[in-house]
Amino acid sequence: MQTNRTFTMIKPDAVANGHIGAIIDQITKAGFKIVAMKYTSLSSEMAGQFYDIHRERPFFKDLVSFMSSGPIVAAILEKDNAIEDFRKLIGATDPQKAEVGTIRQKFAKSIDANAVHGSDSDENAQIEGNFFFSAFERA
Ligand code: ATP
Ligand code: MG
Repeated sequence: MQTNRTFTMIKPDAVANGHIGAIIDQITKAGFKIVAMKYTSLSSEMAGQFYDIHRERPFFKDLVSFMSSGPIVAAILEKDNAIEDFRKLIGATDPQKAEVGTIRQKFAKSIDANAVHGSDSDENAQIEGNFFFSAFERA
């Protein structure tokens, strides 16, 4: 089902480097409406659950330890064609390969500390949004 919603996290590197405001500004100027948002942090258990699909990958341990290393901002965003448009706005996973002007190209330093997360499908956007937000926390 097409929901026109995606889920994002501003990751610990971008929060620590003071980029929350600039990233939210770029997201809203690109036409995304904020449906829900919170400033929080992930335990290593929660980070492992969130990235469960990558459990067997060699970088899983580093990914979990990085994602639980400091505060994050979690948000549900709404726009026509949200999943695809948001992936375009954030750029490639590896910031070295991200197009000029994308969020990762501007704010990320490495493939692990890559500033933002964006859902890769409608189904995962729903699962990830539900992981962070109750029904009462959405506009
Ligand atoms: P995200 O899911 O965080 O939005 P993505 O969808 O672009 O990123 P995935 O393949 O889902 O990329 O990988 C999840 C995260 O795991 C990446 O954001 C990155 O931080 C880390 N990662 C992916 N591939 C590698 C790799 N080869 N080496 C180190 N870390 C990696
Ligand atoms: Mg992904």
